[in-house]
Amino acid sequence: MIAHKSSASTGKGDIARSFFGAFRFSRRAIELVWSTSHALTIALATLTLIAGLLPAGIAWVGAQIVDAVVAASREVQSGGAAHLAAVFWLVVLEGLLVGAMAAAQRGISFCQSLLRAQLGQRVNVMILEKALTLDLAHFEDSEFYDKLTRARREASSRPLSLVNRTFGLAQNVIALVSYGVLLVSFSPWAMAVLLLAGLPAFVAETKFSGDAFTLFRWRSPDTRMQLYLETVLAREDGAKEVKLFGLGPMLLDRYRGIFHKLYKADRNLTLRRDSWGLGLGLIGTLTLYGAYAWIAFTTAMARITLGQMTMYFMLFRQGQSAVSAILSSIGGMYEDNLYLSTLYDYLETPVRAPSGSASRGTHATDGIRFERVSFTYPGAESPALEDINLHIRPGESLALVGQNGSGKTTLIKLLTRLYSPDSGRILLDGVDLVDWDETALRRRIGVIFQDFARYQLRVGENVGAGDVNHFEDEARWREASEKGMASEFIENLPAGYETQLGKWFNDGRELSGGQWQKIALARAFMRSEADILVLDEPTAAMDAEAEATIFEHFRTLSKNRIVILISHRFSTVRMADQIIVIQDGRIIEHGNHDQLVQQAGHYAHLFSLQAKGYQ
Ligand code: ADP
Repeated sequence: MIAHKSSASTGKGDIARSFFGAFRFSRRAIELVWSTSHALTIALATLTLIAGLLPAGIAWVGAQIVDAVVAASREVQSGGAAHLAAVFWLVVLEGLLVGAMAAAQRGISFCQSLLRAQLGQRVNVMILEKALTLDLAHFEDSEFYDKLTRARREASSRPLSLVNRTFGLAQNVIALVSYGVLLVSFSPWAMAVLLLAGLPAFVAETKFSGDAFTLFRWRSPDTRMQLYLETVLAREDGAKEVKLFGLGPMLLDRYRGIFHKLYKADRNLTLRRDSWGLGLGLIGTLTLYGAYAWIAFTTAMARITLGQMTMYFMLFRQGQSAVSAILSSIGGMYEDNLYLSTLYDYLETPVRAPSGSASRGTHATDGIRFERVSFTYPGAESPALEDINLHIRPGESLALVGQNGSGKTTLIKLLTRLYSPDSGRILLDGVDLVDWDETALRRRIGVIFQDFARYQLRVGENVGAGDVNHFEDEARWREASEKGMASEFIENLPAGYETQLGKWFNDGRELSGGQWQKIALARAFMRSEADILVLDEPTAAMDAEAEATIFEHFRTLSKNRIVILISHRFSTVRMADQIIVIQDGRIIEHGNHDQLVQQAGHYAHLFSLQAKGYQ
């Protein structure tokens, strides 16, 4: 498959495209560096220019030294010593130039280290800032998520690497041009020979870089799987089941399998690249020695001096290594470009147009209305919700009942505007959710999802997360924990509200499922401004009695609020003012407990089943 793909990319057009592809993002990378630090960029550019020019200067002074030495030795034989002083000063100059070259190189790596830190931070912040503007749908799209992880993983190394290579390339090109200027006085052909000797290797390099690029993209899903397997095998949250179900060896085998597959493709490419490299490199060596012979011959004919001969030898040798450094920069720039294209793809992901601006409704006491709402997940075949009609007034509670996958959570996601309906509309206090200012809307809603977040922060902050404005407000933590029935166990923790949670940190405590749920409930009570509270099975890990108490609690503590509850326990569900039964995305029954029992439909059947269980 690889062989096939790569052989498809050998055309001339592809080589040209590969060549220009290597520079596609150089401008943006340099802009990025420039905007990160003007001073460092200027310093880097200046030092690059100096480091590019110095080698030619060193070679030229070297030639002068040899000629001066030859002249001095002749002079000494004839009794004079004027050239000896010249030799001395030329050696001093050469020493200074070599010292300056070393200083320039140090300076370059100094600037690079500082830039690495600043640039890494800058790119990471750009990535995270963008993440804040994205929709939930983006995070649930595996391809997009892949882009995001890749962008993040190499954020601190790739942009700088591209910049280093671009500057390195510039340095070598400057050096090559300055060699050319010196070589022209030997023969205009010398420069042409130097470049022509590099050409085959150059073509091969760009071609294989193109192949490496294709290979890299082709195996992205495999690499993703490998990374995922690493996570499952080596992280605490996967470890429990991996051990108990004995999945380890099987998953490790799969991991190895992927490696072998990727390795084979890698090996083939490397083999081809290196054998071509060897052949074409030989051409380079032959050219170099051909040029040496040419120079030596010209010297023997006394057309150039001994000093010039050493200089031309040096220029040829260094010229060749500049050519190969340029080649490998271009090769490396490919991968960096691949990264940057991922990064910019990600950063330029279109986001939804900003929401409306309403901060209050036109009918303050109308509550929530769903009008003929339908919704299908992106890429899904059948709708997750169809033709939903509902009306909940302030002070009322609503329970959603239905099998797993019937669409209950989806309904909540639409209500909280994590997704928008495909058709129909959802109104809050008479205003379409789309026209609400997003922040004003979210401030009114408090939700606990069944997979609520377990932050590896302090206990108090886990509660405080329910209201960013009071994230660190201990008095409010206590109040909310009291209502969420969490205060009792929190106060028994070693450091109370200051206890660190989670295994990522020293002394981090793990909580039981039920305790976490109490934290989540307390978090919901932090949102004292919110007048719509949504509980998506947050009490599943508690016993039925505790759940009923909590729901009762919610109802009494939230007189004018709307409470929406998803639960499989009828002891709780029956207390709600309205109950809807959802099946395959549609409402099949709607009413209060007594009405639904009287209808003797689905609800009544499920209720009696569960009631029997308790008898
Ligand atoms: P419930 O909360 O009732 O268990 P959900 O609302 O989570 O059910 O799911 C309803 C349907 O939508 C299910 O068929 C589920 O597979 C599908 N679904 C849920 N989330 C997504 C998603 N992010 N992308 C695609 N389909 C989804």
